[in-house]
Amino acid sequence: MWTHQDQLKAQRQSMEKSRFGYTREEVLDAKGRRCAKCGNTNENVLQIDHKDGGGRHATEMGKIIPGKTHSMSNLQVLCDVCLGTKDKINGLKGIGLHGIDYHKAA
Ligand SMILES: [Zn+2]
Repeated sequence: MWTHQDQLKAQRQSMEKSRFGYTREEVLDAKGRRCAKCGNTNENVLQIDHKDGGGRHATEMGKIIPGKTHSMSNLQVLCDVCLGTKDKINGLKGIGLHGIDYHKAA
């Protein structure tokens, strides 16, 4: 029988699948469980991010690009600090930025 915890976990993983095409665990496994920018390995602060901005921002703006968003090659693992920096830049300049050195830009 499922516990409440199991149910929450299943709900979260189903949400992750629909948003990223993979669960957080699958992406962390594939990407090496570390921040792609600074190498932080603290899993409590690691987040899954879409390199082309096709995640939360694009969803809110109705700009999901079919076939692109749910691609492992378009996903990266970032820590809270690096993701926050990227969000800040995207908030100022819009989505779809490529090749930015977020540490330098901050
Ligand atoms: Zn980082």
